[in-house]
Amino acid sequence: MIAEVIIDSRAKKLNRKFDYKIPDNLRDLIDVGSRVLVPFANFKTLEQGYVIKIKEKTEFEVKEIAGLDENLSQYKVELARWMARKYFCNVSECIKLMLTPGTRSKETGKRIQDKKVNFIYLTDKFRENLNSVELLRGEKQKKAIEFISKNEGFTIPEIMELADVSRETINSLIKKDFLKIEEQKVDRNPLALKRKEENKKLKLTDEQQFAYNKITKAIEDKRFEEFLIYGVTGSGKTEVYMQLIEEVMNKERGAILLVPEISLTPQMLDRFIGRFGKEKLAVLHSKLSIGERHDEWIKIKENRAKIVIGARSAIFAPLENLGMIIVDEEHDNSYKSESNPRYNAKEIAEKICKQENIPLVLGSATPDISSFYRAKQKDITLLKLTKRANNSNLPEVEIVDLRKELASGNKSMFSQALYESIKENLKNKNQTILFLNRRGYSTFIICRECGYTMKCPNCNISLTYHSFNNKLKCHYCGHEENIVNKCPSCGSDKIRYFGTGTQKLEQEIKKIFPEARTIRMDVDTVTKKNSHEEILNKFKNENIDILIGTQMVVKGHHFPKVTLVGVISADSSLNIDDFRANEKTFQILTQVAGRAGREKLPGKVIIQTYNPDSFPIEFSKKQDYELFYKTEIELRKQLKYPPFCDIIVIGFSGEDQNEIIKFSTLVHNMLKTNIEKYGINVFMPMPAPIDKIKNKYRWRIIAKGSVTEEVTIVINKCLQNFYDLGIGKKTNISVDINPNNMV
Ligand code: ADP
Ligand code: ZN
Ligand code: ZN
Repeated sequence: MIAEVIIDSRAKKLNRKFDYKIPDNLRDLIDVGSRVLVPFANFKTLEQGYVIKIKEKTEFEVKEIAGLDENLSQYKVELARWMARKYFCNVSECIKLMLTPGTRSKETGKRIQDKKVNFIYLTDKFRENLNSVELLRGEKQKKAIEFISKNEGFTIPEIMELADVSRETINSLIKKDFLKIEEQKVDRNPLALKRKEENKKLKLTDEQQFAYNKITKAIEDKRFEEFLIYGVTGSGKTEVYMQLIEEVMNKERGAILLVPEISLTPQMLDRFIGRFGKEKLAVLHSKLSIGERHDEWIKIKENRAKIVIGARSAIFAPLENLGMIIVDEEHDNSYKSESNPRYNAKEIAEKICKQENIPLVLGSATPDISSFYRAKQKDITLLKLTKRANNSNLPEVEIVDLRKELASGNKSMFSQALYESIKENLKNKNQTILFLNRRGYSTFIICRECGYTMKCPNCNISLTYHSFNNKLKCHYCGHEENIVNKCPSCGSDKIRYFGTGTQKLEQEIKKIFPEARTIRMDVDTVTKKNSHEEILNKFKNENIDILIGTQMVVKGHHFPKVTLVGVISADSSLNIDDFRANEKTFQILTQVAGRAGREKLPGKVIIQTYNPDSFPIEFSKKQDYELFYKTEIELRKQLKYPPFCDIIVIGFSGEDQNEIIKFSTLVHNMLKTNIEKYGINVFMPMPAPIDKIKNKYRWRIIAKGSVTEEVTIVINKCLQNFYDLGIGKKTNISVDINPNNMV
């Protein structure tokens, strides 16, 4: 038998199939989806490959498969091939997302080993000897034996802790052959240290019940239907998810719940553990160690876990007998991968749900414009939750015009209104969240004499001043340098620092409100494994008055005592060069506002802006998504932006700018001749807005039109032609449809 194998090769962009003979000893084991090891070219080591087809014979002289690694279902292989076409990438890159993490690391060639732990048991010798207790020396040994007789299968540290005996005591009992050690495999469990606090099922509100019934019907009918739960912040979406998952579990099926990386908070997991226990739950996210990820994956594969909660890549979790997929905060950027393979987890979810005949549930307080449009077109069933579930009211929102503040002589970061409110809140011992979407201290440094700005030597981007280590830092490549007192260009000492980041905000707060206890959450403070969690817990439990942070503070958190939310500047996302600028601004303002007044205490939100009349800001005052949607969708229609059209971005990057120009021109011509006839407009190659990152120049071609199946095929062909010419080895090329980030 012959296998068609795609090689996961070091040679780039090699979506090619090679034939290999299946050796007799592997004949029954190898199937479509197997990951195998094969000899390739003149490489000294074996290469990994994926079997995509089995056939009787081949016309070529072929080598033999050398070994078998792991098997995937045929359906997963088909999914990978579909992805490769849709997202213009290698099949092997897609298959990798579906295999057990850490089973074979290309870099080290090592496999993740099972974790083994030593457990202590009584020996037969001890059990059978009736006088053995009399042979024990001293109280300590008696104490240890007494504990172990009742609690076999504990570890030495556990026994030391619980029975309050020393390691020596246990060791001497082992020497006497009264105790024995047994090594057993255990899971590395990210939830191991969590305690279960009962989370009782709540009686659903009428709106929740309506949504629940609709979706339950689809679960029972085993049919694909896509739902959008559009529910204001705090409307009880999570409660609905939990009850739906219970329904799925009652039917002996499993569920995947996708959440944005950042909302995978301990609070959220606690609710699920409280409802379902730890045993049936698996979590998958990037903060897990590779060992934990491996063991969680195995737990799912072996059917021990029935509920998978995870970030984007958890959509590939190997759950058998799936009953439903939920995508929470479905508008979130993180569901789309911005590096190869550039897949969108929502699209993958849809594909899987259709295949399995199960419902797909999207949820958000500020749905993606395209999702809401599809709901309006009746492509998706819309389910609304208009009220907060616990009867708290949505907060009152005040918009402050910073132009007026400036005119009245207030040059500080805080408007009069925000200043007064923080003061009031401190007096009342309630909590405040201050949101600013830029980290660091000053965001650009300029010479007043000649206009020179300090830029990163590797990236065409301004450096940010960080006060904690007194350095200038590039947020794209991590480059750091010392602060300067003289202009590197003209020698003048008139260097000025402009722009405000979270570090400066924190310092200002400390200056104005010295009695306030503050904590800051941004990429610079969230560096260690759990510090995100730690900061949130501290804020919740340790009488901290003010939480200062970037968008990390925006998502999903529930702090009963937060009654004031201040947005220092609403304008930063408004001015980005991106068709989603309005959408992003409205979403972030609504989400951050939703953190205020979530329980009995009423909430207040103050939004500071230089653009009080722009509609995303105006509508965020009323927190009226539908009003915002009506204006935005009209604009999109007029300007031909998604969902009325797709934006195709073909990116080129590399160290040789001349080569990039040459190849982008070539690709431009290729595309013009091949896809313009499908109504796609192809624009000239241009440098990207940030035209150099990490010493690589960046150019791009933008094309606009409807990306149909046909167009996808043609673009794939163009790319293949391009690689076939054997050129562009130094130039990286990527294709992305409606990317999150247009810079
Ligand atoms: P969302 O996910 O929409 O932000 P949550 O599910 O977190 O909302 O609910 C917000 C708050 O309302 C939580 O404290 C939750 O316990 C409470 N809640 C949710 N559903 C109900 C209900 N049916 N009855 C009472 N309280 C509820
Ligand atoms: Zn200068
Ligand atoms: Zn840089």
